[in-house]
Amino acid sequence: MNQEAGDQIRKRKRRNKRQKTDTSSTKQSANTTATVAAQHTVKNPSASAVSKSSSKPLTYLEKMKAKLAGGHFRMINEKLYTCSGDEALSYFKEDPSLFSMYHTGYQEQMSRWPEQPVNIIMKWLKDHSSSLVVADFGCGDARLSKGVKNKVFSIDLVSNDPSVIACDMSNTPLESSSIDVAVFCLSLMGTNFPNFIQEAHRVLKPNGWLLIAEVKSRLDPTNGGADPDRFIQAVCQLGFKSVSKDFSNKMFILLYFRKKEKNNSKKEIEWPELKPCLLAHSLGFATVKPEEISGSQPAEVQNLVQGKWMKTTNLNTIKDPLNGEKFITISEVEESGIKPFVESLSKCPKHGLHNPFKSPERYLLYGDISAKAGHMLAQPEVADFFAKLIQRVAPKSYQQAFGEVYVTGKFLENFSGDQVRFLARSFGVPGNHLGQQSHGFRWPYGPVAVITPFNFPLEIPLLQLMGALYMGNKPVLKVDSKVCIVMEQMLRLLHDCGMPLDDVDFINSDGKTMNKLLLEAKPRMTLFTGSSRVADKLADDLNGRIKLEDAGFDWKILGPDVHEVDYVSWVCDQDAYACSGQKCSAQSMLFMHENWSKTSLLRQLTDLAARRKLEDLTIGPVLTVTTEAMLGHMKKLLQIPGSKLLFGGEELENHYIPSIYGAIKPTAVFVPIEQILKAENYELVTKEIFGPFQIITEYKDNQLQLVLDALERMHAHLTAAVVSNDPLFIQEVVGKTVNGTTYAGLRARTTGAPQNHWFGPAGDPRGAGIGTPEAIKLVWSCHREVIYDVGPVPHNWQIPPST
Ligand code: SAH
Repeated sequence: MNQEAGDQIRKRKRRNKRQKTDTSSTKQSANTTATVAAQHTVKNPSASAVSKSSSKPLTYLEKMKAKLAGGHFRMINEKLYTCSGDEALSYFKEDPSLFSMYHTGYQEQMSRWPEQPVNIIMKWLKDHSSSLVVADFGCGDARLSKGVKNKVFSIDLVSNDPSVIACDMSNTPLESSSIDVAVFCLSLMGTNFPNFIQEAHRVLKPNGWLLIAEVKSRLDPTNGGADPDRFIQAVCQLGFKSVSKDFSNKMFILLYFRKKEKNNSKKEIEWPELKPCLLAHSLGFATVKPEEISGSQPAEVQNLVQGKWMKTTNLNTIKDPLNGEKFITISEVEESGIKPFVESLSKCPKHGLHNPFKSPERYLLYGDISAKAGHMLAQPEVADFFAKLIQRVAPKSYQQAFGEVYVTGKFLENFSGDQVRFLARSFGVPGNHLGQQSHGFRWPYGPVAVITPFNFPLEIPLLQLMGALYMGNKPVLKVDSKVCIVMEQMLRLLHDCGMPLDDVDFINSDGKTMNKLLLEAKPRMTLFTGSSRVADKLADDLNGRIKLEDAGFDWKILGPDVHEVDYVSWVCDQDAYACSGQKCSAQSMLFMHENWSKTSLLRQLTDLAARRKLEDLTIGPVLTVTTEAMLGHMKKLLQIPGSKLLFGGEELENHYIPSIYGAIKPTAVFVPIEQILKAENYELVTKEIFGPFQIITEYKDNQLQLVLDALERMHAHLTAAVVSNDPLFIQEVVGKTVNGTTYAGLRARTTGAPQNHWFGPAGDPRGAGIGTPEAIKLVWSCHREVIYDVGPVPHNWQIPPST
């Protein structure tokens, strides 16, 4: 009868679409893992080997081995959940080494759980008599037997330990009615699991205990799992009575039964299906390995439209910026292929996917997705994955790439829980008469587009995309082809964290096709981050329905008060040359008060620039300006009277950067302030070079007005720094300038923005913002006022004369 039930279950579909539930439950930060490991060492001596190794940082090689083991673990785990016990037995008999591989991966996964079910069972046994004879069905490395005084029969498919009986647990050599406690700790894996429980029933004495610990997601009907009550009922029909159940743990549930003295039931048992628990590895979402992408193994990038990943036949290849190998293949959508994207956007009404009056549960859904995704990015292996992937496509130092991932993770954490709902907070004003109240609401635009550049492959698109989604919009996302692989992988992570597949479309195409898509799909709002040239064209094409973050000719003024020359020199070097100057916030011009020229500042800038090396990518390829263009620009500047090269001004040595990209040493050109202001020089000097290039100038006490005049004439007002601790000086400069993100004080800088502040340009009504709640609300929602006027109409009201 139960065999039949098992067979029935086997016939059903077995793919587990709830992988995401399981991943979420295996996500713990490194710190938590270490704490859990430490607790283990105290509670459970047999676990100390695992604990020790997980508390010290792994070497690169160890990490790689663990990753490989992780891959095998997933495969074996899936196999065990989708075959019967006897099939599993022959599987391991063929290759017993798979068993230890499985358990390495299993332990790795379990180390992320805040509590181990086997420890709870040990505690239960310790609280009962040590004379109870135990059978541990599916004992793994037999740690239960090692942690208690009881006589324990440990049973598993493979015996690496002499105390373990190797057999299929539906058919054990144990005598009937010989056991006091039968334990299944996360071991109901086979498709014929009812046979395992039946075998436990056979070997148990009357009144004997049956303890089952099972992964929560398998028995959570709200998440696609089986109904625990149905499962309990089936076990009872087999001849048990349910004593208690414990749902208090986050990761697993515990069920306690006792064998009935007699079992009269002859009824056929209806077992619920238990889906596989694909204890997913935290990199389960990824389809590429950053280290392995190469000319011989190119990675592939797909499009996502109407909930489906899609390839095309029009392939674009991207060259590795470090050696020119064609290392990424992108499925690009051609003009003839935009229809599904247009359709998808048009399906979204102007009132959006949600708003305060429609599907408000989606605010919470996005709070939840953000919490999960933030938690994913906090995992070392996930952060490392994205940092390395970023490095491959937008070469910058590991620290800079990691910083990008870190800030992105913090952003997601910031918008977890109810914080997305709070973004749509409304306000009310009392009306003119009873029953009238005016309410202001944040309203979505509906269909929108997000277009983002190469320099921050993860941070800019993710922050803008999430902002769009939080406010209820449906975005189509287009990321610069050179780096789009990063967001392609991030979208897969977001799907794993519960983002509905059809909330975001992702398109790869050339600019012309994207332009056509925008004209046909008519998004109600487009956010563009990138060059001013494209920004201006889009503003025209889209009739101004656009928000922009374009150029940044970012300046820094060193005030008359000189302090901390070492520190200020270092910040100047970072601002001008980190990420090879390819940040929209990079320092383009340094105004130095003459007091600073008398210090070691310029010498230190020269030395710090010389430290930068291609090997660690502290200097590297420039993706949008060629070497020739940068050196050509420098030559023109050097024709200005009084100008001189301070350092750099040469191509990098010993590099294989292809000639479509730029490769120069960190460069600074000095131009006298009076010359900068001359009409014939101003445009040239303030031309933004998106590379490791800056202008340095000097001003005297009585020349501050010249500096302010130079700033007034600039047209891109993104970041700025006033390095001074003189409040009156700061006041003077800040009061007479217009930069969206301005840092003031001794430690002021232009780059390295933490995630807790507004970032964006000022002085342009089209200016976008990024990062904070205010930025999200400004860019991604409009205002709607609803004036409630419900009455009552005054008692003696009469129609008044016309007015
Ligand atoms: N109970 C242990 C291990 C759980 S892993 C612990 O909590 O640490 C699940 C174990 O069940 C694996 O070691 C697997 O080999 C074993 N298992 C799965 N199907 C089995 C079967 N049909 N017979 C015996 N053991 C089985």
